[in-house]
Amino acid sequence: MKILVPVKRVVDYNVKIRVKPDGSGVDLANVKMSMNPFDEIAVEEAIRLKEKGVATEIVVVSIGPAQAAETLRTGLAMGADRGILVKTDETTEPLAVAKILKGVVEAEAPGLVILGKQAIDDDMGQTGQMLAALLGWAQGTFASKLTVEGETLAITREVDGGLQSIALKLPAIVTTDLRLNEPRYASLPNIMKAKKKPIDEKTPADFGVDVAPRLKVLKTVEPPARKAGVKVGSVADLVGKLKNEAGVI
Ligand code: AMP
Repeated sequence: MKILVPVKRVVDYNVKIRVKPDGSGVDLANVKMSMNPFDEIAVEEAIRLKEKGVATEIVVVSIGPAQAAETLRTGLAMGADRGILVKTDETTEPLAVAKILKGVVEAEAPGLVILGKQAIDDDMGQTGQMLAALLGWAQGTFASKLTVEGETLAITREVDGGLQSIALKLPAIVTTDLRLNEPRYASLPNIMKAKKKPIDEKTPADFGVDVAPRLKVLKTVEPPARKAGVKVGSVADLVGKLKNEAGVI
């Protein structure tokens, strides 16, 4: 079975986000970019399935600027076999990404697509669900455990009330939650080997998709600064404040 893993290039999770002074967006000048952390988990899960003999090939795909090739190289260094870069300098919204991914799925015919549950830049959390709808495939979102049993996929989902177990018929779409696995670091020899792995270049037009944004960002603002807390002298004092000031008891 072939596994397709869409990986997004995002601002590294350690970077303190700065908003542009004119409020037109986030300042990306000289900012460290990395693979979306949930996508690292998706790549790791695909590699584990290949190591178990369930998967035969792992293809990583990224939709973004030329530099998204670096994100693909990270996936190749972890263990993916080849990459597809769908090049665009437009901001990519989930629907456009899902439509392009549908085109990639039709061309590549994977048995399973593993995406992140959300990209940490825009926190949309929509692409996997939209892709499943466009393809008419089963979906298992927020997966914290995944096992392939023949033509069926057993998924444990992290839902608000606890854990939900579902069975999906392949081909299927899965989105990863944090607890699915701990992604490996790429070793130096694998980073060197990844340089020779193929990356195919495409454009959104190759899939007949118009990526022009449908959303208009009106303003981007920093979150309000957190106010300092207060120290209370005793439990009675705390209870009094919770009752009279916060009004929570
Ligand atoms: P989102 O719906 O934007 O929060 O993204 C959810 C998941 O969709 C991500 O974790 C990626 O697996 C995939 N994805 C979103 N945007 C892109 C992109 N531009 N290129 C590749 N994969 C993407």
